[in-house]
Amino acid sequence: MGLFSKKRAYLDWAAAAPVSDAAARAYMRARKAYGNPSSPHAEGRAAKDILEAARTKIARLMEVKADDVVFTSGATEANALAIVGHACSLIRSGRKPESIRFLYLPSSHASIAGTMQILRDEWIRVEELPVRNGRIEIEALAPMLTQEASLISMDAVCGETGTVWNTREVAEACKGTRTLLHVDATQAPLTQKFSRAHFNADIVTLDASKVGGMRGIGALIAHRTLPLSAVMSGGGQERGLRPGTESPALAASFAAALEEAKEGREAFGGRALRAKQDLISEIRGIPGLVMNTGAATVPNILNVSLPGRDTDYLIALLDHAGFAVSTRSACETNSTEGSRAVFVLTGDTERAKSTLRVSWGPSTSDPELRRFAGALREAVRFLDAAKSAIL
Ligand code: PLP
Repeated sequence: MGLFSKKRAYLDWAAAAPVSDAAARAYMRARKAYGNPSSPHAEGRAAKDILEAARTKIARLMEVKADDVVFTSGATEANALAIVGHACSLIRSGRKPESIRFLYLPSSHASIAGTMQILRDEWIRVEELPVRNGRIEIEALAPMLTQEASLISMDAVCGETGTVWNTREVAEACKGTRTLLHVDATQAPLTQKFSRAHFNADIVTLDASKVGGMRGIGALIAHRTLPLSAVMSGGGQERGLRPGTESPALAASFAAALEEAKEGREAFGGRALRAKQDLISEIRGIPGLVMNTGAATVPNILNVSLPGRDTDYLIALLDHAGFAVSTRSACETNSTEGSRAVFVLTGDTERAKSTLRVSWGPSTSDPELRRFAGALREAVRFLDAAKSAIL
């Protein structure tokens, strides 16, 4: 295998998973119901039936009632609805903004961290959860759960490092307090349990595009008695929480992809772990390479740093050689600070600025990962040789 072989291997599933055949088929079938699900005629009712069947299927997978499933355009919007929607609801019910405190995991996806930043700048008190060695320190968290602490928002699995956060311990700490727990499970379904009961969370975010569904749909799982307000105004769809015409075909594809993820989870998890161990042993010898892993990590995401190397250039070389990998979350590729998630995990700026993320899924083959390992070794050698030729 050479650095300039052209056969492509897609190893960026954490950014967007390829649409699975089952999800594509579900979309193609459901697209025939083109009516607006809120319309009173037969076409509208046919669309509504498909939408509700998808909602029921997702509810079953999440072990909640169908009424708890609120469709959104994706995880970003679901996270904004959870955080801003809860803040709006508290303020509407008479709480003074300065008496509201939200807590969040600082390494969370930008749609949590950035939304918290907006609230902090404009409105309410926002604090970071205490993190040490890839887990939330429950001992330090407990005293933060005062009367004013209204919401904890965190991801279940970090899309950059693959860290599996101790959400269940956080849920346990929240018991008996007034703090709601919002878990962003976007990256969980391919390898982890993802029901609401598993997380014991009040609110859960899901996204289709990370599990093999068509892009453009996600969901917020939240019981209707929870204090959430709409952040947009419109037609009153989705319990009035997320107005706008729903897409039954996207919902059907989302439900099919989630179901497939759950059914394939154990088999894929075992295969992915063996593939990860092989990949690590193949690239471990690269000079200066360090692994960025939390206390627990998913088996299908590997994040490494190559301090002192330009990993943006490295991924361009790898792309040219036929491998789609990334430096960090696709939503933060313009950041000059490097990976926030890796910085939270390691406290090391150099490591945060030189990350490389490889992520794969059920249709990735072992030879693809082996070819990637060879290409990475070769690309790093090429980079180092080019650098010493310049110096
Ligand atoms: N949450 C997590 C944990 C993610 O990894 C991502 C995307 O990578 C998102 C939210 C945002 O997803 P989307 O861009 O589909 O809204």
